[in-house]
Amino acid sequence: MRSSKSYGAELRVSGSSAARRYDVDRGGIDVTGVCCTGCGRLYDEARFAFGATLWCTCGRRVGALPASREEPRRPAGEFAADAMLARLARWLRLFGFDCVLVPLGDRVSMRGALAGGRAVLTASRVVASAWRHSAVVRIESADARSQLVEVIRRFDLAHRIAPLTRCGECNGLLEPVSRAEAAAFAPPRVVRKIEAFTRCRDCGKTYWEGTHAAAIRAVARDVAARARG
Ligand SMILES: [Zn+2]
Ligand SMILES: [Zn+2]
Repeated sequence: MRSSKSYGAELRVSGSSAARRYDVDRGGIDVTGVCCTGCGRLYDEARFAFGATLWCTCGRRVGALPASREEPRRPAGEFAADAMLARLARWLRLFGFDCVLVPLGDRVSMRGALAGGRAVLTASRVVASAWRHSAVVRIESADARSQLVEVIRRFDLAHRIAPLTRCGECNGLLEPVSRAEAAAFAPPRVVRKIEAFTRCRDCGKTYWEGTHAAAIRAVARDVAARARG
């Protein structure tokens, strides 16, 4: 185990588990690091960006420096959901919200998402507790519908739900397609009856106002009402 002395830092260990920040002179090279208050191990400050914390090998949690906390910022309805929340992500997209998926607990992806102004949604208590950032949010409900209500309420998005403006499969934006073009992919009876068609700009999936679209709109109304209630 490295001692704090080897880095030339004076380290006083207190009973608190909060880490301290040190500017350490290591043989003429200034290194900004975060010291574990338990064992003195020095960690690269970059690992704590956006309020990330980590467990030191000595068993103490390191991080959560007030100085490294990002300003709380209200996301504008852009999300990164962990892989356990794939159904929620699909529904958020169908409601028009930008939602990418990130591997569960993947710090690099989470940092990237936070840097891009996204809120990170996770179903994992462990992942959520490893971050001290207002935009890392643990989703507590088990079923997708309640999860939707949770997100819409928390981020106050009920008035911004725009069903069927974004592709549920890939997160791409939908663009209108003419009836003539729709004839290439939709059954003739649909083309005769339906006027509005859209297609995903990214994956090409097509959507039109049928029973499925009506069901999505009904879910949107229900979720908005529950989120407001
Ligand atoms: Zn330690
Ligand atoms: Zn798509």
